[in-house]
Amino acid sequence: MRTVTGSTDHVVVVGAGLAGLATALHLAGRGRAVTVIEREHVPGGRAGRLDIGGYRLDTGPSVLTMPGIVADTLAAVGEDIEARLDLQPVVPAYRACFADGSALDVHSDRDAMEHSIAEFAGPGEVAGYRKLRDWLSALYHVEFDRFIAANFDSPLSLVTPALARLIALGGFRRLDRAIGGFLTDARLRRVFTFQSLYAGVSPQRALALYAVIAYMDTIGGVYFPRGGMRALPTALAAAATDAGVQFHYSEAVTALERRGTRISAVHTDKQKRITCDAVVLATELHTAYQLLHRSPRRPVRARPAPSAVVAHIGVPAGATTAHHTLLFGDAWEQTFDELINQGVPMSDPSLLVTRPTATDSTLAPPGHDLFSVLAPVPNLDRGAHLKWERRAPGYGAELAEVVERRLMPGFAARAEIVHLDSPEDWARRGMLAGTPFSLAHTFSQTGPFRPANLPRGVPNAVLAGCGTVPGVGVPTALLSGRLAADRITGAAAGRDHGAPIADISGVRP
Ligand SMILES: Cc1cc2nc3c(=O)[nH]c(=O)nc-3n(C[C@H](O)[C@H](O)[C@H](O)COP(=O)(O)OP(=O)(O)OC[C@H]3O[C@@H](n4cnc5c(N)ncnc54)[C@H](O)[C@@H]3O)c2cc1C
Repeated sequence: MRTVTGSTDHVVVVGAGLAGLATALHLAGRGRAVTVIEREHVPGGRAGRLDIGGYRLDTGPSVLTMPGIVADTLAAVGEDIEARLDLQPVVPAYRACFADGSALDVHSDRDAMEHSIAEFAGPGEVAGYRKLRDWLSALYHVEFDRFIAANFDSPLSLVTPALARLIALGGFRRLDRAIGGFLTDARLRRVFTFQSLYAGVSPQRALALYAVIAYMDTIGGVYFPRGGMRALPTALAAAATDAGVQFHYSEAVTALERRGTRISAVHTDKQKRITCDAVVLATELHTAYQLLHRSPRRPVRARPAPSAVVAHIGVPAGATTAHHTLLFGDAWEQTFDELINQGVPMSDPSLLVTRPTATDSTLAPPGHDLFSVLAPVPNLDRGAHLKWERRAPGYGAELAEVVERRLMPGFAARAEIVHLDSPEDWARRGMLAGTPFSLAHTFSQTGPFRPANLPRGVPNAVLAGCGTVPGVGVPTALLSGRLAADRITGAAAGRDHGAPIADISGVRP
């Protein structure tokens, strides 16, 4: 693995999003002096927070998976996850509601899920689910250490025995076909393929290897920190501070000073000059390139993922809906076409409806419930004509009506839209094409084909964050911090690179 060259005693990390925080923790744990510079007044970046009228909103992620990666990040400085975070398992992980009125509770526990499937689709599908579960687990074990939590020096790094295993598992088939090899019920298939939307690709076009995302939530489980998702960056930042990391909040990096090809200092909008031996740019990718005065070397234009409108809605208490509800519209395949190709809002919306107060009632004022409704919408590359500034309030009301029709009678009439973010809001915060989900995870933007974290021509700069490897999401942003730290120090000694590869015989779709 290639690393930066020269001294790395003092590292400046730009950005205190999850990737920047993870980078700081791993570097501090490896004996580096670390300074983090963050333009906002709090840590978290996209894992953002807003307090409005007694509501404590999480403006970013709501589905927390893979708590083991959070634990590893804290363990980098010798901290226990239990001491820093009160993580509650979310049970069921989701309730999936379909346009025909049927609903399925999705459990990560095998027995509970088998029971749920038998009731929902009949015992015939249970056998398929068992095989699917084994396949997803095998896929995860093959992919995790070698393709996801891995630094690539070139596409050739892909060519390992694990690649042969991935091919043998059917990882390069199409996702919908692979899942269809296990399950016949179209609604059930959707529960294990909708995650490709997070990757910005339709299940018909996505490769089966992306089913690993379905492993993370449907098998690994979904969690929620008491105090809301903001508790995660708060905990990481507190652990980093206790480990000696210096934080400068409300301060943006405006320029990088060079001596020869090396970055020797960063300059901030508070007219400070902070010297460094190495720098990790954990910002949006294009911000990092701007600071470096470089442009990515890509033969084709980068493809951003679809965006989202998120409406945060307060209602009088009394809701009984699950923590996470997937409201699937009927026109599922058309939805991807509308979002990704046509650049129009979904004609038959599929929504993620989250009620954080189902797990932590303190997130709303007494007597109230808090909801967030996430609607995928085209990014601004595809849907520049949509004029969200004008459209957003009406769209928020439309979303509340969909929730009322499909999930909770009387919802819209009682709904108070406390806050709403649209693609134009994400763009104002500097996000590529107004999407909070960065570059889509098409095959040509994944693994060694995603913009690399070691930019060429600058011997002491590393990139971290969702625009580089491994990609978008809370677990992946945290891993990206570890991968960036590895580029500074070399891979940490004693880390287990060999998660057991399950016996893959007989688990192909
Ligand atoms: C609405 C929404 C829903 C999501 N849902 C989920 C979900 O349910 N599950 C999931 O796993 N993931 C989800 N995600 C994705 C996940 O939140 C992100 O992939 C992840 O948080 C990205 O972290 P990051 O550190 O790469 O980037 P960021 O969080 O963007 O961090 C970059 C940081 O750099 C700072 N910065 C930028 N420029 C400068 C500068 N010049 N000087 C100093 N600081 C600077 C920024 O302020 C920011 O804090 C969601 C995201 C959003 C927004």
